[in-house]
Amino acid sequence: MADKIQMTTPLVEMDGDEMTRIIWKMIKDILLNPYIDLKTEYYDLGLKHRDETNDQVTFDSAEATKKYGVAVKCATITPNAARVEEYNLKEMWKSPNGTIRAILDGTVFRTPILVKGITPFIPTWKKPITIARHAYGDVYRNVEMQIPAGAKAELVVTDQDGNESRSTIHDFQTPGIIQGVHNLDKSIGSFARSCFNFALDTKQDIWFATKDTISKQYDHRFKDIFQEIFDAEYKEKFDAAGIEYFYTLIDDAVARVVRSEGGYIWACKNYDGDVMSDMVATAFGSLAMMTSVLVSPDGVYEYEAAHGTVQRHYYKHLKGEKTSTNSMATLFAWTGALRKRGELDGNAALEAFADKLEQASIQTIEEGVMTGDLASLSNLPGKTVVDTETFLKEIDKRLAAML
Ligand code: NAP
Ligand code: MG
Repeated sequence: MADKIQMTTPLVEMDGDEMTRIIWKMIKDILLNPYIDLKTEYYDLGLKHRDETNDQVTFDSAEATKKYGVAVKCATITPNAARVEEYNLKEMWKSPNGTIRAILDGTVFRTPILVKGITPFIPTWKKPITIARHAYGDVYRNVEMQIPAGAKAELVVTDQDGNESRSTIHDFQTPGIIQGVHNLDKSIGSFARSCFNFALDTKQDIWFATKDTISKQYDHRFKDIFQEIFDAEYKEKFDAAGIEYFYTLIDDAVARVVRSEGGYIWACKNYDGDVMSDMVATAFGSLAMMTSVLVSPDGVYEYEAAHGTVQRHYYKHLKGEKTSTNSMATLFAWTGALRKRGELDGNAALEAFADKLEQASIQTIEEGVMTGDLASLSNLPGKTVVDTETFLKEIDKRLAAML
């Protein structure tokens, strides 16, 4: 075998839980370590170790990501009551993704992996559609009340000198409901910068849509902040890259997305992104084929799969049964991180390796070798369903032939 590819800067490696932790090790053993002298700074975000460190390891891994600029993360358990019991936890620790996102102040971009043989439910979609969801505020930080008949609801804002300004929401003749939501210029600005950076990075147009015709202050503020930042900081770079920033109304965007052939980023406010990402993911076929990257406004990247730890498969694995768990999204988290590391370090060999590994894995599925979840979606004739490990070994055969 030729010499292994060398790395100059470490990747931040965040290990995780259950079936994805098993897959994580298999990917490294079968597809990475034989070819790369892998340099990582390892953080074990498995639930047991998070509990042992009082979740400090999650904070440390996020700080390391800021330092090195690129991380790859395995899916992790977000504890609920059942998990507290299962793992005998000291506390119901917070979602690691939430913690990391808050520290990096980032936006999550989700992109489907397309393969021949799996046709999106919208047949005109030829290229991936990436959804960028704003991760702060709006209805996710709301204050709500039920209002009895005869009550008057007002918005009251008290400034730092104690002066009040008021406007009436509604004079309730009959019972009803109200809700207060907020967002911050700073958070909207970070969202905009993350989106524009990601568009430049992937050389794709970016669309942004809100309901600014109806929400003339709130949604309009999003539109204005995006436009101000674009004009001041990005317009020239976009012109040079030959890509566009396109703003439209959310209803118009939905109609255009359905008619489009894909190949762009769709930036969404928090709620729109929640709903639309499920719609787009389902229409493209499978959560197991959805990649995810958290991008901070200052250009730090954390790659992961969009799915969880595939608990049901893990329990089968623990009983000694073979599973057929799809490793594509986790594998693409690794290739995404390795390619970015290569790009930042001027390491062309590492970038080329990431490209080839992705090609080899797509080729494997397109040649009819796939995990069970895809077999039911693929219209290829003569499919072979393989187990988790065999799938990775099949990729390795094709990868070895390419290198
Ligand atoms: P999940 O792990 O995404 O799995 C849900 C179901 O989707 C699986 O049972 C499986 O269906 C299918 N599936 C998902 N990924 C697959 C893959 N790679 N290959 C084949 N099938 C796949 O969601 P969950 O079971 O609701 O959550 C399990 C744990 O993951 C939870 O503790 C949750 O906190 C955590 N989670 C973590 C993240 C993250 O770290 N980013 C995200 C979401 C959830 P079948 O069983 O029908 O085969
Ligand atoms: Mg949702």
